[in-house]
Amino acid sequence: MNPDIEKLIPLQQLDLELRRLREEVDALPRQVAAAAARSAELQAQQIKLEEWIATEDKLRRSLESDARSQRERIARQRRQMDAVTNAAQATALEHEIAFAGTEIRRMEDLELESMERSETFDADLVRAREANAAAEASLERERLRAADTLSRHTARSRELEAARRDLRPQITEAVLGSYDRISKSRGTAVAEGVDGQCAGCRMKVRPQMWNELRDRSNQDRIFTCESCGRFLFWDPARDAPQRKPAEREESIAARIVRSL
Ligand SMILES: [Zn+2]
Repeated sequence: MNPDIEKLIPLQQLDLELRRLREEVDALPRQVAAAAARSAELQAQQIKLEEWIATEDKLRRSLESDARSQRERIARQRRQMDAVTNAAQATALEHEIAFAGTEIRRMEDLELESMERSETFDADLVRAREANAAAEASLERERLRAADTLSRHTARSRELEAARRDLRPQITEAVLGSYDRISKSRGTAVAEGVDGQCAGCRMKVRPQMWNELRDRSNQDRIFTCESCGRFLFWDPARDAPQRKPAEREESIAARIVRSL
């Protein structure tokens, strides 16, 4: 394999891992913000329920006070009944007593309805408090996880950056320039040739080039895909049937790690 390509392969692994780490770090504030928004939403729900419960309590206190006034009124009117002098006065008082009685029953009904609503709100509040506590704990975990990921990724990125700085000067400048340009536009600049195809763009490699790529007497040549422009390399382990794909993957990974 051409010595530049040999170094571009681990360089690309470094660049891809660096990019992945950067993307993961970039996503952290979003993940923490999502957990914070969830927690704030549940907290608002809890506050709303507490307010509703307080409103119902207030309503019932007011209904009880009104009912008490009506009962006092009835008592007063009953006392007045003893002093009535004619039937018209008695009928008028009876009407008033009946009306006050109806009012008291209406208030008792309203109070009952309010108590039923409060029962539902109380049960909802228990659940809301549990959910709120869980969301707060989850937010805390998310914050810790983000801090941990940030510190691990920063340390790992420093290692990768150092390896990258070591590796880049060992590559011919023009090749490195092409690598940077293609990586920028296509995401990757080095692709393996697999089954007569460029693994980068999935286009067929012309048979003549495919044969040349696999010919060991051409090992110093640099091949590029005619469709996407990526540097092409060929891994002889691909064509060795006695090796399983998993082992081959391991061998490439091991080689990259060794080269760092
Ligand atoms: Zn291609």
